[in-house]
Amino acid sequence: MAAHYPSNSRTSHGLGNQDPRDSQLRLILVGKTGAGKSATGNSILGKKVFPSGFSAVSITRSCKKGESTWKGREILVVDTPGIFDTELQDADTCKEIARCMALTSPGPHAILLVTPLGRYTPEDHRATEKILKMFGERARRHMIFLFTRKDDMEGTDFHDYLKEAPKIIQELMDQFGGRYCVFNNRATGAEQENQREQLLVLVQRVVAECKGRCFTNNMYQKAEEEIQKQIQVVQENYRAELERQKAQIRQEYEEKIRMLEDELERQKQVMQMRRELTEREALCVTRQQNARNEVENQSGIIEIILRLLEIVSLIFSLFQD
Ligand code: GDP
Ligand code: MG
Repeated sequence: MAAHYPSNSRTSHGLGNQDPRDSQLRLILVGKTGAGKSATGNSILGKKVFPSGFSAVSITRSCKKGESTWKGREILVVDTPGIFDTELQDADTCKEIARCMALTSPGPHAILLVTPLGRYTPEDHRATEKILKMFGERARRHMIFLFTRKDDMEGTDFHDYLKEAPKIIQELMDQFGGRYCVFNNRATGAEQENQREQLLVLVQRVVAECKGRCFTNNMYQKAEEEIQKQIQVVQENYRAELERQKAQIRQEYEEKIRMLEDELERQKQVMQMRRELTEREALCVTRQQNARNEVENQSGIIEIILRLLEIVSLIFSLFQD
């Protein structure tokens, strides 16, 4: 199935500019609660966007996106609660999956499977297997194993660690074909910058290996179509609103100007009217550019994706074709 989304299928804001999403790298963080997903997200973005920690307030409850730039590329990171490792198919989990899809549509370039270094319990492995199954075979090429708590290794080389690691981890590493990264989320300065660089270079390699394409499937493509439809609606509404406002401004000023006798005063009013019209137009352009964000945050689009998900009867294979 064609995984590539031709750029002309996206709305070009009506401005003739190239869509920055064309060069965007979209990453999803998945893994168990407490694995270090939110901390890793902050390390990748180079700023604290996601609350991270063991306290009740910092537990991620809802998918959230953060953005940053790296070498002129837009980096979009979506942090998730532990939704992909659960058997639970309750309404909240489904809603979060739909939200995650809306935020990463038409699909992620890389899925980062976050696991802390150290003891890897059978429970951890069950969570990993669930995630792998959930995303399906075709998503595997976009998956990167991201180990956190490098600082806990106290200087042990990662390769030495791997030699001693449980067989199950070694097998997974083989399957992932070297697509792994090790993070110390407590790192600062050059160490922090280096690990960020290492991961993003790896992501670029993954994307190149996938012919520049992100991971996508029927569900994602349908979701993207719906998002595009909603973007059109939002943008048309703003355009219509702008026309109404402009007509009103013109009418108000024309009435005012008609009453004025002094030519200089008239000219002043004309200038002021033009300024106001330009301001309204600029505001409309900003709103139109933000249309995608607006749509992603609307409950409407989540409901639509949920309905699409319901059509897929086997939710645990929803990321497969
Ligand atoms: P999440 O539930 O997967 O989002 O995990 P969090 O990002 O909230 O991290 C859970 C805890 O692990 C927090 O207290 C983090 O500070 C801590 N943590 C995450 N990554 C690292 C790391 O690389 N080193 C150390 N020492 N602690 C980490
Ligand atoms: Mg979290």
